[in-house]
Amino acid sequence: MGVIGVLALQGGYQAHERALAEVGHRTVRVRYASEFPTLDGLVLPGGESTTMFKLLALEGLEQSLDAYVRSGRPVLATCAGLILAARTAVGPAQRSFGWLDVDVRRNAWGRQLDSFQATADDTDLPLMFIRAPRIERVGPGVETVLRYHGEPILVRCGPIFGATFHPELTDDRRVHRQVFGPAS
Ligand code: GLN
Repeated sequence: MGVIGVLALQGGYQAHERALAEVGHRTVRVRYASEFPTLDGLVLPGGESTTMFKLLALEGLEQSLDAYVRSGRPVLATCAGLILAARTAVGPAQRSFGWLDVDVRRNAWGRQLDSFQATADDTDLPLMFIRAPRIERVGPGVETVLRYHGEPILVRCGPIFGATFHPELTDDRRVHRQVFGPAS
């Protein structure tokens, strides 16, 4: 894989850059529409999804981002990124792009604690949740890759992956490797 873009309007893009570099990928911060044609994959980081939407509109990036994600290249959407990717987002409700046929509820994991660490079901992958969305419905075309307490936390539809947790904030690189492959 060549260059992976990390949407860098807001939120936790730097930790994704480090994670991708550890896997051996080159990264570029995406802030302008002109960057999309150069990318072999894209990360939509965590942060605050309502703010991200506002900035996408302000920067005129909505259409080019939408076209890029639908173009079949690998995409990893984490937390607020997953909210952007979902079919619907509630709690509070807001627009989303619908790239992944899942419905999410915002800030629904660890409401009492805000953030917490855990381990995925059936594997030793460490998980970090930060005011994470919960996936409340998984559409028929969407595969559940990982669960926690029986609930989907990593889903995919072809090359588009969505995680409720933050794989970039632990030192396990399996998720970034699975989405983008080893560096060429
Ligand atoms: N709660 C945030 C939102 O709704 C997402 C949290 C995160 O990305 N860590 O946008």
